[in-house]
Amino acid sequence: MNYHILTLFPEMVMDGLNTSIIGRAVNKGILSIEAINIRDFTKEKHGHVDDAPYGGGAGMVMQAAPVCAAYEALCERLGKRPRVLYMTPQGKVFNQSIARSLAEEEDLVFLCGHYEGIDERALEIIVSDYLSIGDYVLTGGELPAMVMIDCISRLIPGVLNNDVSAEIESFHDNLLEYPQYTRPEIYEGRRVPEVLLSGHHKKIEQWRREQSICRTWERRPDLLKTANLTEKEKLFLESWKSLQREEKKDLQL
Ligand code: SAM
Repeated sequence: MNYHILTLFPEMVMDGLNTSIIGRAVNKGILSIEAINIRDFTKEKHGHVDDAPYGGGAGMVMQAAPVCAAYEALCERLGKRPRVLYMTPQGKVFNQSIARSLAEEEDLVFLCGHYEGIDERALEIIVSDYLSIGDYVLTGGELPAMVMIDCISRLIPGVLNNDVSAEIESFHDNLLEYPQYTRPEIYEGRRVPEVLLSGHHKKIEQWRREQSICRTWERRPDLLKTANLTEKEKLFLESWKSLQREEKKDLQL
C-alpha cells in the first residue's frame, strides 16, 4: 500500500506515522507513506495557499490551484490517478468496513483541509470520497488521515506480527472483542477467569464468543442488530439478559 498525503503540515503526519507498528511496516517495505506539501505547488509570489472566502465570513479558505496542481503532479509521477479521500466532517463516518475496502487499494491519496476548508472547485475536480472521523470539528485533516492510515494499515498482510489478531478484534462480525488478561493470575484480589487457564481451546473459544456477545449488548447494542448470531447464541443472549434483569431487581430490593 502506498499512501500519499496532501497537506500543509507534512511534518505533523510524518512524525506521527513513522513510529511503532506502522513505522516498522514502512521499514519492511510493506507500506510507503509520503507527505506532499501543497505549499510547494503555489504560484503565488509570497507562497500563499489560502485567501478570504467569497461572500464574506470568518477564516481563510485553501485555494483550488495548489491543491489540484499537487494532485496532478503526483498522478504524472505515478502514471495513474489514485482515489482521493477528502478528510471532512461532512463526509461518511469512517468505520472498520470502509477500512477493509480501502485496504484493497494499491495507492490512496489523503487530502487534508485546514482553516475553513478547501475551495469547492478543487474538491469537485479531484475528490472521489468524502470521509469523516466523527461528528465534531477539528482544526485540520491531518489527524483524521493518520487515524484512517493507522486503521487501514493494520488490515494489510504483514503489518501486524500475527494476521489473525486483526481478524478477531472488535467490529469483526459486528461484535466487540472479549476481555483480555495477562500475567499475573491474581491482581488486587481479582483472578483471571478460570476457563482461560484450562488449556481447553474449544471452551475458551466459546467463552470468548459469549463474552463478546454480552459486552456488545451492554456497550454497543446498536451493533448487535447486524451481528451474525446463531440460534443457540441468540438463546444464550436472551437468558443472559433475563439473568441481568433478575440481578438488577435483587439489587433494588
Ligand atoms: N468549515 C468546515 C465545515 O464546517 O465543514 C470545517 C473546516 S475544519 C475547521 C478544517 C479541516 O479539518 C477540514 O477541511 C477537514 O479537512 C478537517 N476536519 C475537521 N473535522 C474533521 C472530521 N471530523 N473528520 C475529518 N476531517 C475533519
